[in-house]
Amino acid sequence: MPAHDFGSSVELALSASNHLFNARNASRYVAQVLQGVNTVATKIEGTEHPFTGVEPARLKERVAAVDLDLPLEDTAAALAELEDVYLRDAVYFHDPKYAAHLNCPVVIPALVGEAILSAVNSSMDTWDQSAGATMIERRLIDWTAGRLQLGSAADGVFTSGGSQSNLQALLIARNHAVAVLRRETANAALRLPLLLDRLRIFASADSHFSIQKSASMLGLGYDAVISVPCTADHRMDPAALAAALVEATDAGLVPMAIVGTAGTTDFGSVDPLREIAALSRTYDSWFHVDAAYGGGLIVSSRYRNLLAGVGLADSVTVDFHKTFFQPVSSSALLVRDAAMLRHVTYYADYLNPESAAKAEIPNQVDKSIQTTRRFDALKLWMTLRVIGADGIGALFDEAIDLAARVGGLLAADPDFELETDPQLSTLVFRYRPTADGVPVTEDVADALNPAIRAAVFATGQAVVAGTRVNGRQYLKFTLLNAEATLEDIAEIVELLRCAGAQLLAVNKKDNA
Ligand SMILES: *Cc1c(COP(=O)(O)O)cnc(C)c1O
Repeated sequence: MPAHDFGSSVELALSASNHLFNARNASRYVAQVLQGVNTVATKIEGTEHPFTGVEPARLKERVAAVDLDLPLEDTAAALAELEDVYLRDAVYFHDPKYAAHLNCPVVIPALVGEAILSAVNSSMDTWDQSAGATMIERRLIDWTAGRLQLGSAADGVFTSGGSQSNLQALLIARNHAVAVLRRETANAALRLPLLLDRLRIFASADSHFSIQKSASMLGLGYDAVISVPCTADHRMDPAALAAALVEATDAGLVPMAIVGTAGTTDFGSVDPLREIAALSRTYDSWFHVDAAYGGGLIVSSRYRNLLAGVGLADSVTVDFHKTFFQPVSSSALLVRDAAMLRHVTYYADYLNPESAAKAEIPNQVDKSIQTTRRFDALKLWMTLRVIGADGIGALFDEAIDLAARVGGLLAADPDFELETDPQLSTLVFRYRPTADGVPVTEDVADALNPAIRAAVFATGQAVVAGTRVNGRQYLKFTLLNAEATLEDIAEIVELLRCAGAQLLAVNKKDNA
């Protein structure tokens, strides 16, 4: 359409405005959202596998074939098309045979919250864009900090995910460390890069890669992260941490932060938080706890004790979109001392002038590294109001118990090796059968296990993850589905065994 064709452009705006969500169109909204909701519900009712095994190239073709400059007739037509380009081949986390990553089945009250928060579309940066939403977010931050026992001066903010929470924690830790360094007269006038060069972050060898990425984004570089060895159960070894701290400080380096992980992504292992807290106090280092995965333990009735010591942290990451069964995204960063959030405060005249802070107008942007920000807190609010904290905790407890039972199954199975006993709801294991009483070699197992994973993924019958431990290839289950049964997981184990035996047989034939 030529740009100067005002007549038809006005007409277009008139018809497009029928799609604006407002009082006039409220009934259209209801009708169309119901169509969408019905489409998903029908889909979920009819889905028998977590995936179809579609190849990326096939989907790329189908998506590329859509003419984005030519809209369809209506929402119904777009939903029909969506079946082809998305819904048929999506990966479904609610399916009991999805056992790969830290994705959870989601709870319905949170989906109701999701519909409401995106329709009202509050933005959490300032009070004049959010009002009650800000109060609800603040209440949930206080509730979470209370459960973590961070003390009465605690505060925090919702974020997009654990990676962002970790980044913000380390940003605060970095700026705090720089502020402390600048108090020394020799450093007062030094430019920032010279100070940053001396800062180090300590995290276990099994910590999340977002620690390295954060270090990179913070101008420190990957190699500012000192990897602390773990004991055999994949928890940080406090003696190794103590030694690393001595070595770094002897070299004139500054331990800016120590990161304890409460629930490592692969093993669910919880670092010895009390010991780490004591060392961080000795070295005047920021103690951050990455509880992106283990955070759900704060509502667990049976396993809450696994988080003992978390209340000693200076900051904590919690991912509600993992172990609180919330839709992506929903996470929070909590800090022990609310005043530390000043390290991310920047007053902009047009948005959040300093005068507003002085007048105590609650502008959440003062605490966040985002500006426009979703009201994700509403999903958790609805969840707590309908299901309750104990109910959510019970769902996580089920997943932890299931993992223990699957651990027993795998440990007793001569074709599989369990790397370590499950600590939360993950299992790291590999297929390594024996032939004539001798297990296949490490190298054969290394080739075999990623191939098994790919083969099962290609059938779509189950989705499992893979990881490396000490340079060797393993398979991984992450269990977060309270409705999955031991039989469901045993069936996945059979799929893996079958695929493995077939791959081995083909291998043998090729070598014969
Ligand atoms: C998942 C995870 C993260 C990252 O969280 P996202 O929400 O995916 O950004 C960080 N740390 C740990 C331990 C995790 O398991």
